[in-house]
Amino acid sequence: MSHAAVILSYLIASVLFILGLKWLSSPATAVRGNRVSGAGMLIAIVVTLLDQAILSFEVIVAGLVVGSAVGLWMARSVKMTAMPQMVALLNGLGGGASLLVGGGEFLKSELVNENLTLDVSITIQLSMLIGAVTIAGSLIAWAKLQEVMTGRAITFPGQKVLNALLFLAVVVLSAYQISVPESLLWPFYAVVGISLLLGILLVIPIGGADMPVVISLLNSYSGIAAAMTGFVIKNDVLIIAGALVGSSGIILSQIMCKAMNRSLANVLFGAFGATSASTKTAEGLTARQTAADDAAVQLAYAKSVIVVPGYGLAVAQAQHLVREMADLIEKKGGEVKYAIHPVAGRMPGHMNVLLAEANVPYDKLFDMDQINAEFERTDVCLVIGANDVVNPAARTDPGSPIYGMPILNADKAASIIVLKRGMGAGFAGIENELFFNPKTAMLFGDAKGSLQKVVTELKAL
Ligand code: NDP
Repeated sequence: MSHAAVILSYLIASVLFILGLKWLSSPATAVRGNRVSGAGMLIAIVVTLLDQAILSFEVIVAGLVVGSAVGLWMARSVKMTAMPQMVALLNGLGGGASLLVGGGEFLKSELVNENLTLDVSITIQLSMLIGAVTIAGSLIAWAKLQEVMTGRAITFPGQKVLNALLFLAVVVLSAYQISVPESLLWPFYAVVGISLLLGILLVIPIGGADMPVVISLLNSYSGIAAAMTGFVIKNDVLIIAGALVGSSGIILSQIMCKAMNRSLANVLFGAFGATSASTKTAEGLTARQTAADDAAVQLAYAKSVIVVPGYGLAVAQAQHLVREMADLIEKKGGEVKYAIHPVAGRMPGHMNVLLAEANVPYDKLFDMDQINAEFERTDVCLVIGANDVVNPAARTDPGSPIYGMPILNADKAASIIVLKRGMGAGFAGIENELFFNPKTAMLFGDAKGSLQKVVTELKAL
C-alpha cells in the first residue's frame, strides 16, 4: 500500500471516529455512532495490517486469536453490575499497551544503538509514565470496585509530598535518558517502577462516591498515553484516536465533578471518605414499611410518577419489569418519567444503558437539572435501588462526606416509595434520612421480586 493511501485511509478513519463520537452523544443516534466508529476502527486496523512496516502476520494472527478469545470470554461472563470494573480494567490495558510499546521502542533503540530524535525520546518517556500510571491506577480502581480492597480513601501523613518527590524523580530520570544517548538501563527500569507506584499512590486516596471521576480520568489518561505512543511509532490515526479518548475523558471527568459539585483537584487530593465524617445517624428513627399491593394501589391512582433508578436496579436486573410497570401505570392514566442522576449506578451512563436495554423511550429519561423542579408536583417518587443520589444529607448535613453534591429532590414528592433489600447503605457508606421521612414507605426485597409483585397487583387492579 502506498504511503499516500495509508495516510488517506487514516484520515477517513479519523473523520469516522469524530462523527461517531458526535452521534454517540445523543441516545437517539448512539447506535449509528457506535457503528460508524467501529467502521473507522476496522479501516484503521486493516490499513495498519496492510502497511508492510508492521510485524509479521503470524504474530498478528496469534495476537488476534488470543486477544479475541480472552475478550469474548470476558464480555460474555461479565455481570452487568461488574461492567465498571471491566471498563477500569480495559482502560488499564490500554495504558499497559502504551507502556509496553514505549518501553519496547526505548529498549530497541538501546540495543541497536539508534539515536532517537528529541520528539521521539520525549514521547517515549511520556508514554511510559502515563501508561504505567494508567495501568497501575486502573488495577487499584478495579480492586476497589470489585471490593478486593477497601473502597475507602487510603491516606497517610506526607502522602502528597511523597507523590511530588516521586514525580520529580521520574522527571529527572526521564530527562537523563533523553539527554544521554547511550544511557544506563537502571534509570529506565526506575522510571517504569516509580510510575507504577505513582499510579497506585494517586488512586488509593480516592474513595467513596468520587470513584466515577477517577474512572473517567483514567480513561482519559489511557487516551493520552495512546496518543504519545502514536508519536513514538509515527502512526497518525493512533495520535488522533488517543487525543479523542484523552479529551473526551477529561470532559467526562469535568461533567462528573460538576455532578458532585467538586473541583477536580478536590477529588484527586481531597481524600473522600478517608475519615468517617460526622454523619447523622438514624438512631431512634424507624422506617415505615409497605407491601406490594399497597404500593400498586398508590401507583395505579397516581397522576404523576417519577422513577429514580440506582445501582440496586442494575444488581437486580429489573429494568424490563420497570418498563412493564410503567406501561401499566400509563394505561391507567398516570404519567411516568425517569430521573437520571449523573453518578447513579457504577459507571457514567449506567442507568441510560440499563433502561435502553428495556427499550424505555429516551424522551422519558430526564437529567437531574431538567427534572428536579418537578418532584414537588409529583404524586409518587419510586426510588428503585438508589440511595446516595437521593440522600438529603447532601443538602442539609455539612458533616456528611457527600455534602454539597447535587441530588435528585425525591424527598420533595408528595409520597415516596423506596425499593431496596434492607437498610443497607449505598456506595458512600452513609445513612440516608430519606428512608425515615414520614412521607416515605419502604418496600423491602430484591427489586426484581418486589417489582414482579407490584406488576402482578397492577394487572389485577
Ligand atoms: P447506591 O450505591 O448509593 O445505593 C444502591 C442501593 O441499592 C443500596 O443502598 C442497596 O441497599 C440497594 N440494592 C442493592 N442491591 C439491590 C437489589 N438487588 N434490589 C434492591 N435494592 C438493592 O446507588 P446510587 O445509584 O444511588 O448511587 C451511586 C453511587 O455510586 C454514588 O455514591 C456514586 O458516586 C457511586 N459511584 C458511581 C459511579 C458512576 O460512574 N456512576 C462509579 C463508582 C461509584 P440494600 O443493600 O439495602 O438493598
